[in-house]
Amino acid sequence: MTDLSRNALKEAVMAPFWLDDPGRPEPLPCLCEKTTADLLIVGGGFTGLWAAVQAKEQTPSRDVVMIEANTVASGASGRPGAIVSTSVMHGLSNAKRIFPDDLQVLEQLGQENMRGFRAALERYEIDAHDEWNGELMAAISKADLPLLDAEFKLCREYGHDTSYLDGEQTRAEIASPCFQGAVWNRSLSGTLHPARLAWGLEKAALQLGVRIFENTPLKRIDHDSSGIRAVTPAGGIKAGKALLATNAFAAGHRKIRTRVANIRDRVIATQPLSGEQLDRIGWRNRQGVYDTRIQLNYMRLTRDNRIVFGGKIGYFMGRGTADPAMDSRPAVYESLVDAFFRTFPQLDDVKISHAWSGPIALTTRMAVHFQHYFDNKAIWVGGYSGFGVSASRFGARTALRLLDDMRTPELDLEFARSMPARIPPEPLRWLGAALTVYALDTAEEKGGWRHHWLALIKKMGFPL
Ligand SMILES: Cc1cc2nc3c(=O)[nH]c(=O)nc-3n(C[C@H](O)[C@H](O)[C@H](O)COP(=O)(O)OP(=O)(O)OC[C@H]3O[C@@H](n4cnc5c(N)ncnc54)[C@H](O)[C@@H]3O)c2cc1C
Repeated sequence: MTDLSRNALKEAVMAPFWLDDPGRPEPLPCLCEKTTADLLIVGGGFTGLWAAVQAKEQTPSRDVVMIEANTVASGASGRPGAIVSTSVMHGLSNAKRIFPDDLQVLEQLGQENMRGFRAALERYEIDAHDEWNGELMAAISKADLPLLDAEFKLCREYGHDTSYLDGEQTRAEIASPCFQGAVWNRSLSGTLHPARLAWGLEKAALQLGVRIFENTPLKRIDHDSSGIRAVTPAGGIKAGKALLATNAFAAGHRKIRTRVANIRDRVIATQPLSGEQLDRIGWRNRQGVYDTRIQLNYMRLTRDNRIVFGGKIGYFMGRGTADPAMDSRPAVYESLVDAFFRTFPQLDDVKISHAWSGPIALTTRMAVHFQHYFDNKAIWVGGYSGFGVSASRFGARTALRLLDDMRTPELDLEFARSMPARIPPEPLRWLGAALTVYALDTAEEKGGWRHHWLALIKKMGFPL
């Protein structure tokens, strides 16, 4: 940890930048009575919100209730880097890893999803600060160039609008001395303000007639022949069906977490860069960027020209929806700020304005899956593994179709019928996660057993 990083963090607010916004809506009331609905949605993140909007669009007469333990977008959806991509399977190479036979169809579904996503922004007049300048995968060493070659080849094979940039061309785009080359994919991808998207969807859902209750955690859920019975602290819901959109918190059934690990990822945002500071790094095309570090870093600009920079994983055993106390300590973010200054050493006069962490539902699939409970009267949907800003619309849509027993062709594909592998329970899970976090933090510097451990984790199905 350098003094530069420690000083830069001194005045940072330990909360998500995206939620620190005057556009944040007033909280909605909690549920204080017993009520009924055709469809109950649990969780007010992107998955729950997209489900609410799409359920009403499909069947306007359907009575939809959403309950959220805290406030809309208080989970992952108010905290991401928010680099949006077309893929609904965590990128083309992950899709190839998990469903090689369905790649072409999954690509089409991704494009369809992104077109629907953008049409909804227009239809509901959501100003999500969206910018469609593509995403850049940047190699941080010459040894990583083969990764770029493979990515470029795959993108071209599937018709993406992609360019390969050598070191000089990459640094002409974004002046980081770390970048040795890049693949710039411009196919329906870019960046947005995630909380504004969530609040826009919340408004749309309310206008469509969805009843949303905040500060209403699901306590218990069960079923009988007529449907679902959900219990909340001061009320309850009898519903025909339930869509559990509780992400890494995996609430709604004790078995959900057998396949989903709740990990945390940390993020920082800088103060807005001045015009002169921005000139030092270029970045005129404002792409979303991922690098090839072992502990992957992602970065993007905001509308007011801050840099949002993320990528430092943590794990906390048995978490509810509250933030871990440890992640409100600036010291936790120092190594991430080190990585920021290594990437942009010319910005050594820039201060960090916000630092926060958020939950990631990690699975061996690294992409959405569906768990069926209570004779298919309830479905849990999630597991985007850090890649869900746009895929959540697809996840919600597919889950609604599964709940409604619709027979659309994509529901016959393996992604809709299969599950990711089981993950060892606690305390083994905690032990494995602790070793992995340590290896990710130190592998680049110290090497040795850490590389073997990370290779093993990859073999287990987590290509972190
Ligand atoms: C740090 C970070 C960076 C990321 N970066 C990107 C990125 O650049 N690009 C990308 O595509 N994706 C990214 N993601 C992933 C993306 O944010 C998520 O996949 C997406 O927001 C998931 O939405 P969700 O609705 O499924 O989950 P959430 O937004 O977490 O919503 C789940 C909701 O359920 C509620 N809940 C939980 N338990 C209960 C209960 N018992 N009763 C009622 N409500 C409950 C929670 O309070 C929460 O609001 C990132 C995630 C994180 C954390």
